[in-house]
Amino acid sequence: MTSAIRPVPGSVTVRVPAKVNLQLAVGPPREDGYHPLVTVFHAVSLFDEVTVTTADRTSLKIAGEDAAAVPVDRSNLAWKAASALVKATGLRGSAVCIEIRKRIPVAAGLAGGSADAAATLVACNELWQTGLTQRELMVIAAGLGSDVPFALIGGTAVGRGRGEHLTPALAAGSYHWALAFGHQGLPTAQVYATIDRLRAARAARAAGPATRPAHAASAGTPPPGEPELSHPLMTALRSGDPARVGPLLSNDLQPAALSMQPELRRTLAAGREHGALGAVVSGSGPTCAFLASDAAHAREIAVAMTGAGVCRTVARATGPAPGAVVVRDGQLA
Ligand code: ATP
Repeated sequence: MTSAIRPVPGSVTVRVPAKVNLQLAVGPPREDGYHPLVTVFHAVSLFDEVTVTTADRTSLKIAGEDAAAVPVDRSNLAWKAASALVKATGLRGSAVCIEIRKRIPVAAGLAGGSADAAATLVACNELWQTGLTQRELMVIAAGLGSDVPFALIGGTAVGRGRGEHLTPALAAGSYHWALAFGHQGLPTAQVYATIDRLRAARAARAAGPATRPAHAASAGTPPPGEPELSHPLMTALRSGDPARVGPLLSNDLQPAALSMQPELRRTLAAGREHGALGAVVSGSGPTCAFLASDAAHAREIAVAMTGAGVCRTVARATGPAPGAVVVRDGQLA
């Protein structure tokens, strides 16, 4: 990678999308605690914007959706991204003011923090003229978090491992979504812990009434299998027909999100009642994603969901959206 290139003055703005998971298959935790995943990421037109400006010392400002819930210190993923780029390139003495305009709700299963990290990588790479390729940025991104590499490329892609090993998916057409945001976020780690507990309890039940979860494996109850890609979903995506894609949306974390926020059942049911072709919790939730047949239908679902009072607010979005892109003079570069 490039080393010790001098930063140029000025500022750079990058627009970056949220994601929904069209499929999220979660295996049992590995020894290192991570759950192996197979997921189909789909970037949607709900964007954060990150501006980096040359400064004497690094700082971070946040405005917009849920701004108060986001740290403004080194623990912010965007700050970590700038530091990781400095480390990877050997650039010394560089500092930036990072300004994040959030539209992606926080802790919502839409990977907003990861999106900001990806945007910061692209913005600093441009500001500092570090000249890293997207492939090189992807390596740094994977070290920051499992969802960060996808925010760099956007579109629709299959993620494996922890989600960071990506293969672009052959998906035709565009998809119209209504996204229902919850009143409270769901911490991703707790959602994974809950799915492990629910699965252990289910295994114990299957093994017999007197068997506790810890004994389930020795009682011969099979653990959840390795996650597998849904080939019917991939075929449906190639057809470009939302009516085929809708019923195939799936999320292994949904039972955990529903047990932590039971009111999400009503949200999903309301979307289905209003004709959504598919209804699924996105990622670790609590955002519920409803697939519509076209833009007008997405508007109808959004209006109906707002009227039903089963969520905090509703946004419309289309996918697939591009990944992190530099904005120049208000235009995407
Ligand atoms: P995940 O990518 O794990 O599915 P999520 O999309 O549900 O996460 P995020 O919006 O990324 O949730 O926020 C998760 C946590 O990360 C929040 O508790 C927040 O405090 C922290 N965080 C750190 N940096 C950021 C950032 N730039 N934007 C949003 N959250 C951030």
